[in-house]
Amino acid sequence: MSDAPDSPVLSPPDREHDTTATFALDPAVVRRLASTLVATSGESYPTYAPFTGQPIAAIPLSTVADVAVAADRARLAQAQWARVPLTQRADILLRFHDLVLDSQDEILDLVQWESGKARLHAFEEVAHAAMTARYYARTALRHVGSKRRLGMFPMLTRVDVHRSPKGVVGVISPWNYPFTMALSDGVAALLAGNAVVHKPDSQTALSALYGVGLLHEAGLPEGLWQVVCGEGPVIGPAVVDSVDFVCFTGSTRTGREVGTRAAQRLVGASLELGGKNAMLVLHDADLDRSAEIAVRACFSSAGQLCVATERLYVADQIYDHFLARFLGRVEDMRLSAKLEYGADMGSLISQQQLATVVHHVDDARAKGARVLAGGHPRLDVGPLFYAPTVLGGVRPGMACFGDETFGPVVAVYRFGEEADAVSRTNEGPYGLNASVLTRDTRRGRALARQIRCGSVNINEGYSASFGSIDAPMGGVRSSGLGRRQGVEGVQRFTDPQTVVTQRVLPIRPVLGLSERSYAQTMTATLRLLKKTHRP
Ligand code: NAD
Repeated sequence: MSDAPDSPVLSPPDREHDTTATFALDPAVVRRLASTLVATSGESYPTYAPFTGQPIAAIPLSTVADVAVAADRARLAQAQWARVPLTQRADILLRFHDLVLDSQDEILDLVQWESGKARLHAFEEVAHAAMTARYYARTALRHVGSKRRLGMFPMLTRVDVHRSPKGVVGVISPWNYPFTMALSDGVAALLAGNAVVHKPDSQTALSALYGVGLLHEAGLPEGLWQVVCGEGPVIGPAVVDSVDFVCFTGSTRTGREVGTRAAQRLVGASLELGGKNAMLVLHDADLDRSAEIAVRACFSSAGQLCVATERLYVADQIYDHFLARFLGRVEDMRLSAKLEYGADMGSLISQQQLATVVHHVDDARAKGARVLAGGHPRLDVGPLFYAPTVLGGVRPGMACFGDETFGPVVAVYRFGEEADAVSRTNEGPYGLNASVLTRDTRRGRALARQIRCGSVNINEGYSASFGSIDAPMGGVRSSGLGRRQGVEGVQRFTDPQTVVTQRVLPIRPVLGLSERSYAQTMTATLRLLKKTHRP
């Protein structure tokens, strides 16, 4: 992207030196990134770099009226777009795939800049966005192309099922994966022939806008992806009120409001919400490998990941050995506020997230939990850093027992019987992701079937399911409704339309048959079809 004449060129802080004074983005770059933003208020709001607390940019603020304008523009563009052949839409996604990979240095800078995560964790977003675009481009015809289905009578009834786009899809995305959560759902919606009105989280709008710029560079027609920026409670409801389907990713509390509002209008919604994800380390697990997997599962993106592990259940027989290895690795973790690879964990995003983490840990400690690692901020690295933290002795009544922390904090528990570990995993309102670590993968898969979660990873934390784009991803119970990824992730943005052509014989008595004779003939035919006809 940086080679194109009109592309934004970021000026990353000097990687060798102190970054504190250099996080402000050139206003000209911000203006260019924000050129697709619908924002007429004349006002703006500041965003801050979590690594330093320094301002990044002033983002133009959208109003409720701007949301209506964005929806109108999107609707206009969508009418044309729905007529563009599926293969042409898919080609744009494939070009977007290449642009994402080619522009990764700038994307990684921007994601780190806005979210404060470690560079390797930011790379997950680049890879996920590219994989999603390729997957939906390559499966377009299979997933949303028209299909023949079985008719009422073989030969006589022809059935075609078409997938019509919903129209305008509202995407409301969170800050924790500011690039791929902003783009990947919308890319599937576009492929299916929809336009998008997008409200990224206000803290991380630039990563989203950069990605929208790449979509345009890939050939996406103007008007199809409208962005509005501002506080969720102010403009979010207006997005829900003006679209034909809502794709929401965020907290369970907000998801409930969004789902209720969409239901009032009888428009569909997919809700990707919170979790309190458990990892089971069985008695036969490889200790070193398990400790390494657990560190990544608990502390990627500083635990600000909907599918991160926050509860670790370890078999009695290996508890002490596993814990020693796990704690050793946690103590060795490298924290860094630099725009370069080599860190195991970055920063929390905001004072609000830091306050939640501090509250969960202090509350647990005050009520008798043991801090086995961490348990304190790391202001020596940056203003919002918190040490990776492991707690023992966490019990009901402590905030971190059942509430999502969404930070680098994990509670570790012993279990005796596997059945007990499974039933504790299933406790609480959430059901997003779980993991089972074992050498006996067959046993792991059997246990997975008893766990009430949308995804279960065997010998991984979350990345195996997150990266398997052909498989649906999402939660059950309070963790959400609907799925992203896979066929489910694109068909949610369509309405099936069934077109049936009846040939030769009508469905009524013909050839002088009485109604009774017709019913008898039909009965004989139905009996025959049961014997001969297998859909
Ligand atoms: P949040 O619900 O506060 O915000 C998410 C988005 O909703 C933001 O864009 C926000 O501006 C917007 N919003 C806020 N209030 C709104 C309203 N009344 N109407 C419409 N939109 C509104 O979530 P958060 O706390 O910022 O994000 C973290 C949460 O997101 C965690 O609970 C996490 O588990 C969840 N999450 C889930 C997934 C998933 O795929 N399941 C992925 C990432 C994050």
